[in-house]
Amino acid sequence: MEYQKQEFLDKIKVLNPHLDLEIIAKAYDVAESCHRGQTRASGEPYFNHPVEVAILVSQILHLDTASIATALLHDTVEDTDITIEEIEKIFGSEIASLVNGVTKLTRIEFQPANIRQAENFRKFLIAMSEDIRVLLIKLVDRLHNMRTIEHIVSPDKRQRIATETLEIYAPLAERIGIHQIKTDLQDLSFATLYPRMRESILERLSEVPGIDDNLILKITEEIKNNLQDKGLDAEVSGRKKSPYSIWMKLNQKNLSFDQLSDIVAFRIIVKDLIDCYRALGIIHSIYKMIPESFQDYISTPKHNGYQSLHTLVIGPFQQRIEIQIRTEEMHEIAELGVAAHWAYKQHYKDIDGKKYRWIRELLSVMELSSDSDELMQNTKLAMYYDQVFCFTPQGKLISLPKGSCPIDFAYAIHSKIGHHCSGAKVNGKLVPLRTHLENGDQVDILTSNSQTPSPEWEDFVMSAKAKTEIRKFIRQQRQDQYMILGKNLIEKAAKFSLVELNDKNLLKAAHTLAKKTVEDLYCAVGEGRIGRDEVIKLIKSEKSDKFTDKIVKFFVKKNMEDSDKSSISIEGLIPGMAVHYAKCCNPIPGDKIVGVINTGRGVTVHINDCDNAKNKPNSEVIDLSWSSSSLDSKFIIRLRVVISNESGSLASLTSEFAKYNTNITNIKITNRNPDYFEFILDAEIGDISKLQPILSSLRSKKMVQHIERYKD
Ligand code: MN
Repeated sequence: MEYQKQEFLDKIKVLNPHLDLEIIAKAYDVAESCHRGQTRASGEPYFNHPVEVAILVSQILHLDTASIATALLHDTVEDTDITIEEIEKIFGSEIASLVNGVTKLTRIEFQPANIRQAENFRKFLIAMSEDIRVLLIKLVDRLHNMRTIEHIVSPDKRQRIATETLEIYAPLAERIGIHQIKTDLQDLSFATLYPRMRESILERLSEVPGIDDNLILKITEEIKNNLQDKGLDAEVSGRKKSPYSIWMKLNQKNLSFDQLSDIVAFRIIVKDLIDCYRALGIIHSIYKMIPESFQDYISTPKHNGYQSLHTLVIGPFQQRIEIQIRTEEMHEIAELGVAAHWAYKQHYKDIDGKKYRWIRELLSVMELSSDSDELMQNTKLAMYYDQVFCFTPQGKLISLPKGSCPIDFAYAIHSKIGHHCSGAKVNGKLVPLRTHLENGDQVDILTSNSQTPSPEWEDFVMSAKAKTEIRKFIRQQRQDQYMILGKNLIEKAAKFSLVELNDKNLLKAAHTLAKKTVEDLYCAVGEGRIGRDEVIKLIKSEKSDKFTDKIVKFFVKKNMEDSDKSSISIEGLIPGMAVHYAKCCNPIPGDKIVGVINTGRGVTVHINDCDNAKNKPNSEVIDLSWSSSSLDSKFIIRLRVVISNESGSLASLTSEFAKYNTNITNIKITNRNPDYFEFILDAEIGDISKLQPILSSLRSKKMVQHIERYKD
């Protein structure tokens, strides 16, 4: 049906007189101009779809102004040129965030891969809809799409949409208690997926004696008259159950069609709660009740708030019929679920400023309950406010603990991806790795083979998997580094002492020092738990053949002279593990360096004239040199700079660094007076050879009064 603007507004107004028609009219105009020229699969103007959705949102769910405006705008951001920022400018943040919510849901395509995904997906949709209106509008959007699904030409696409509707959206509608939408979605999907099955059920229905429409009308009248005779005013209606629910019953209870007892159901709606039980009494006194069929959902409501009395009786024409008895209010909640609460409460002011608190309360009640109702078996939703749901670029859903970052995401995909995670794009934008992920974020992990986990990752990952994997990796890495370091230390000491090392004497020394293997011995020495001299002393004390000893000593000596006085090279060592770079002098490749062995914590690298390295009476200091591989990585150099306090001097200083492709990572002003600034500056630099040109060029500037390597 096509609506003109005024016709639409009149209709909306009749449905709910409390609405702000000015905003709705504006939304109508904006959406109409956005969608102009677009058509649906049926060939009609695209704009008919949002208008129908807006009407259904009002008609079925009685939602508020913002929801109806959102319904009109719900496809604009996804399908037209308008942006969410523009929507916010025109309509404000409430409507913009609703439109944004619906858009995010639309972008997610459910892949009918497995049940776990379906379950996750439903969880996600609920978690995503922090504002329940987003979910309600999405359900209505889906309802209208299902009503017009026959226009979609591709059978595959129809099947996909119907499957998604049946597995995701119908259970969601059930979960939030919107019976009417649930039933429609199920039947429309059923008709798309199993048209012949549905036909045959309809056929069987029409053949069952005694349940033709005429008879249903007769029974309705009889029940109504009986109630009236006993002085009870009630509304009575009868209907056949939907083909889908009959099909489900046939499937799940393994019954034949003839065994189905409750194909017809009658509903009695009365004034108040006491009347429900009075009506039940009257029904049971005139019709024979089928034992154990009675259920009291009034005293024990269903998880979704549903209340009713259910009973099965032998009707006036000897048919088994189901009778449901409830009040007007219970009926509304049964049909509309959460939306009914909305309709009741939307006129109340928020007293404590906590918006939609009642929805959260309702949702948490739903979360706690467990219901064995057959339709609920595949809809075990939880609210999971402590989780966040994100997507891979391929649309796979990943659920993580709240507060997770892209590294958690990377580890959730695969531990290898986690280990090599070098960056991340969230919704197409590069973000820092410690960024908190939000519901619905699409996360693209960038990897690099040279990237490995850093100890500081552990501080900001949330998921147990990421934490464990990072710890495992670092433990292994540290162990490897300790081993290399220990091996180097022992070998160097052996050369000085002219001791020959071999597998046999090393293993013996290891055993004497209560280590199982030579590797364990290396580790202990690397960690500083066992002194290298202790090891050498042990090996030296071994009895040896004097003659070979002499020869060995000769070769060892020769060997030592050949090598470059062999300092220990720190090869590819990751800062923060076995080797730490001293914060006092910040050594970088090219600097002459020494290492201070700290028991159990590896080695701290200092510049060799650093006072902190010299004044360590109880620790051992070793010579170190830079390995060629460490020249490839970037180091932070710390400078103390004094420049004159005049406009532009800081800018020209930083541009000087830029000229040399050097990145300033931190600036801290330590002193400032009318004449000059003093500050500490950190810059990323490859090696010392790249520093000199920068320093020289800076020193030539007039505004630079002083610049030097910073020492604590
Ligand atoms: Mn739509």
